[in-house]
Amino acid sequence: MSEDYYSILEVPRTATQDEIKKAFRKQAMKYHPDRNPGNKEAEEKFKQVAAAYEVLSDEKKRQMYDQLGHEAYTQGHAGGGPGAGDGFAGMDLNDILNQVFGGGFGGGGFESFFGGGGGRSSNRPRKGNDLLYQLQISFEESMFGVEREIEIPRKESCARCGGTGCEPGSSKKQCPRCHGRGQVSISQGFFNMVQTCPQCQGTGEIIDKPCSDCRGTGEIQRRKKLKFRIPAGIDDGQRIRLAGEGEAGRRGGPSGDLYVEVHVGESELFERDGNDLYCKIPIPFTTAVLGGTVDVPTISGKKELTIPAGTQHGTRLRMKGMGVPTQSRGRGDLYVVIAIEIPTKLTSTQKDLLQQFEKASEDTGIYPKVKAFIKRHFGG
Ligand SMILES: [Zn+2]
Ligand SMILES: [Zn+2]
Repeated sequence: MSEDYYSILEVPRTATQDEIKKAFRKQAMKYHPDRNPGNKEAEEKFKQVAAAYEVLSDEKKRQMYDQLGHEAYTQGHAGGGPGAGDGFAGMDLNDILNQVFGGGFGGGGFESFFGGGGGRSSNRPRKGNDLLYQLQISFEESMFGVEREIEIPRKESCARCGGTGCEPGSSKKQCPRCHGRGQVSISQGFFNMVQTCPQCQGTGEIIDKPCSDCRGTGEIQRRKKLKFRIPAGIDDGQRIRLAGEGEAGRRGGPSGDLYVEVHVGESELFERDGNDLYCKIPIPFTTAVLGGTVDVPTISGKKELTIPAGTQHGTRLRMKGMGVPTQSRGRGDLYVVIAIEIPTKLTSTQKDLLQQFEKASEDTGIYPKVKAFIKRHFGG
């Protein structure tokens, strides 16, 4: 249960697509139901191997899987979250096996094994692909949310033929090669293997007159404009899911989802940590000593901050509720990190005053840290 897809395929996390394919081929051969008739354990193992391959062989899905981890990914899988397909019902195992084994495996064995309809796998409704869109926004936009319009190229169901691929007024007819069975027999050595019909790709039907808009594919590549709102407080790398805005499903299957991955630009002033912000501000050393007020830039504009007398360099002063606005938990805090500026060019009057101050400070105990340091290290 806790095994992850990499360990199921027995490959390292750094495996190349080639290595993943090879590993899948090896494991699939081993646990193939035709080779292990009636063996429930092998059956289970085979399903796992196929599920692992389905994700790891797809760079988009693999990336999401790596990012979310096994638990989160597979949970999302069940609940329709990121990377969710329709599990085995929507996954075309024959496609995967044909792709890896070059067509030799597209037999009835898999169909009956997975409860499909006798070699007609390509006829089943299939969910459209999920799409991933990378979006750059500024730091300021990430703080308060922003509305964006993007244009995405995606496959949509052809309007002229309603996705059937047939020119209006015409319909599909029985495939002459397989007579509607979707499969043809071929001999390979000792075996008489059943293969998906190459003429109709297993559907049992062929298009008589292809639709002139989509040339029989039932799909059209379109650029679609989408307007959506990015919520306030979104962090770098977070994704927004736009349900049903992915590629069109096939044969009446549901559309995939569109994921917008948001990249947030850096701010000159603020650094973000969770929902808190950090901002470094310089203050005069006299303000640090005597106390006072300074103007602090916040994401909601200029605010006054009180500096207590005796503020040390590097002190963090909290401004409650001035951090990142969030949907659920109010706002984070702003931490002002104090950088005390020591003047480097002084007039003779300024020097005089400071020398008087120095003299007046002797033996008054106003530098306890300095005193303790000297005592500890020089025994003074
Ligand atoms: Zn069409
Ligand atoms: Zn056919």
